[in-house]
Amino acid sequence: MPLYHNDDQQMLADAAQQFIADKGSVAHLREFRDKNCKDGFGHDLWREFGEMGFNGILVSEEEGGLGLGHQEAGIILKEIGRNLTPSPFLTTAIAGIEALNAGSKNLREKYVPGILAGETVLSLAIEEHSKHRPDHIAMSAARSGNGFKLNGAKKFVIHGGSSDMVIVAARTAGGVNDREGITLFAVDKDVAGMEINAVRLVDSAVAAHINFNDVEITADAVIGEVDQGADVLDRLLRAGRVGAAAEMVGVGQGAMDITVNYIKERKQFGRVIGEFQGLQHRMSHLYSEMQIADAAVLKAQQLLDEGSEKAELMISVAKAKVGKATNLSVREGVQMHGGVGMTDEYDIGLYMKRDRALSEFFGDASYHVQRVAQIYGY
Ligand SMILES: Cc1cc2nc3c(=O)[nH]c(=O)nc-3n(C[C@H](O)[C@H](O)[C@H](O)COP(=O)(O)OP(=O)(O)OC[C@H]3O[C@@H](n4cnc5c(N)ncnc54)[C@H](O)[C@@H]3O)c2cc1C
Repeated sequence: MPLYHNDDQQMLADAAQQFIADKGSVAHLREFRDKNCKDGFGHDLWREFGEMGFNGILVSEEEGGLGLGHQEAGIILKEIGRNLTPSPFLTTAIAGIEALNAGSKNLREKYVPGILAGETVLSLAIEEHSKHRPDHIAMSAARSGNGFKLNGAKKFVIHGGSSDMVIVAARTAGGVNDREGITLFAVDKDVAGMEINAVRLVDSAVAAHINFNDVEITADAVIGEVDQGADVLDRLLRAGRVGAAAEMVGVGQGAMDITVNYIKERKQFGRVIGEFQGLQHRMSHLYSEMQIADAAVLKAQQLLDEGSEKAELMISVAKAKVGKATNLSVREGVQMHGGVGMTDEYDIGLYMKRDRALSEFFGDASYHVQRVAQIYGY
């Protein structure tokens, strides 16, 4: 498959580009940051995402969605990245839906219509450490009556305080590092015993550290099979990782574009600074790195959509490559803005902050480089 979009995907990209630049620009991020919004994103825009059909990209047509794949999801995510749009799209409509797609019809009927309408928000309680480490799950889900009792703590649950349902990975059997014995649960936000402590991240998103103290849930909350949740978790992680990589491509390209525009306008030493070859060489290096990252992400999306066994490897290649390329883009951006780069008045610093948080989300470049090495058997 060629590494560019087909005609239908290009039409979606044009629509998404226009809509997100109009409604979810950096000004939108500043508005929600400056009013210290407790959710960190706009519910009106989330509903408009629903009206545009974006929230149903990974939902089958029979269930009211568009029945498309990760390439199309990535098109939306890239624009979210380019505009730094605060949105629950990645957690809810991509990773969350992907987990629900592996769950029962009852669970899908309960949550999917609200997600399609942009009324429902999901969050993902998968991390128990300050770094991404999803194969290490200590949180317990002990059988209790005809359901389960959850005890333990989760960290960095993005939108954790404002979601309607939290997808929780807990242990119904085995030891902390075992693959067998993990179960995923759909936990409604109002359940007793869930202590949610909000934390604002460097990119102004609001996450939560959540303590679960004897949280009672019924057996219908299980997503997939008891003890076999690792397969569903993998599915969620593959969607989340490739989605986060796509969003980061948007962040990197957005930062590069505003930097190019800046050096074409900024005059110093009696000349426009973009005329200097020293800066042109740096920009062309950055452009090539972003092109490679973009291609790696598209390849990973294509392999995932095809159900290829190589998808896992390519997703880690993509998340690692874009982690490095986008980091280069935001650092070069701040450098080339000179003394004003780190002021709040200029947007480039906001791109650097989003890059920092997104690189942690679903595993940073070091995590994924190591994963590539492991998959290759080093
Ligand atoms: C989704 C999410 C969002 C977060 N957002 C924020 C936030 O907004 N603000 C905040 O304060 N914290 C945030 N954190 C937590 C933050 O990322 C960690 O607390 C922090 O990175 C820990 O720093 P450290 O120096 O202890 O460890 P590390 O970041 O692990 O750094 C240790 C050093 O080792 C290197 N290293 C790590 N692994 C390898 C490897 N395999 N090979 C080679 N080198 C390696 C690293 O590059 C680094 O140089 C977030 C975490 C997550 C999961």
